[in-house]
Amino acid sequence: MINVVLKMDEKEIELIGDNHISHNTDTPMLPTAFDKTDAEKIKTIEYHFSEIMKELGLDLSDDSLSGTPYRVAKMYVKELFSGLNPENKPQLSVFENKYGYNKMLVDQNINIDSACEHHFLPITGFAHVAYVPKNKVIGLSKINRLVDYYARRPQVQERLSMQILKDLQESLDTEDVIVMISAKHLCVSSRGIKDKNSTTTTLVYGGCFEKKQYRADFLNIIDQPST
Ligand SMILES: [Zn+2]
Repeated sequence: MINVVLKMDEKEIELIGDNHISHNTDTPMLPTAFDKTDAEKIKTIEYHFSEIMKELGLDLSDDSLSGTPYRVAKMYVKELFSGLNPENKPQLSVFENKYGYNKMLVDQNINIDSACEHHFLPITGFAHVAYVPKNKVIGLSKINRLVDYYARRPQVQERLSMQILKDLQESLDTEDVIVMISAKHLCVSSRGIKDKNSTTTTLVYGGCFEKKQYRADFLNIIDQPST
């Protein structure tokens, strides 16, 4: 395997700008990613975040601000980015498909709480997932947990969709999976172009969903008002 490390100078970063392009399904991680404990990471991030705040001119001796570096650090490690650590991956218990159910199963309106890796600003929206079981079925809430696990990382929406798809295809032992995500990116609505209304939709699929009819059935179900 050849590892190519590309370093960009500031000008190149500006040029790439908001083109949220990703070429690999895996989140790029350092080999040392889990050498430190969560507590050690929180301590280090707390220090660096306090430096950012001071650089912005904020007075950290103020009661309201003094706890912010710790709160941000804890929020990053334990909540927003907890999905970086494979230890936090939910157990995906799959069961034998005893009923022989072999039609589409749809899990829709799953909350997405993620953050864009280019600006560390929220991505919020919904995921809709469907699969056609072969020999295995999965507990419904497990799909929600899996979506949440991959969302809790600095992300690009395309990669998030693909990570969920790939994992479900492997866990369920079938290619017949489809994942749709519609989300708002705060980096688009609150800065840059400041478009408040646009949403971004990604659709990834394999197996039977390569056929238009299967995708149409799925999209039809998604369109129905949910109870
Ligand atoms: Zn962004």
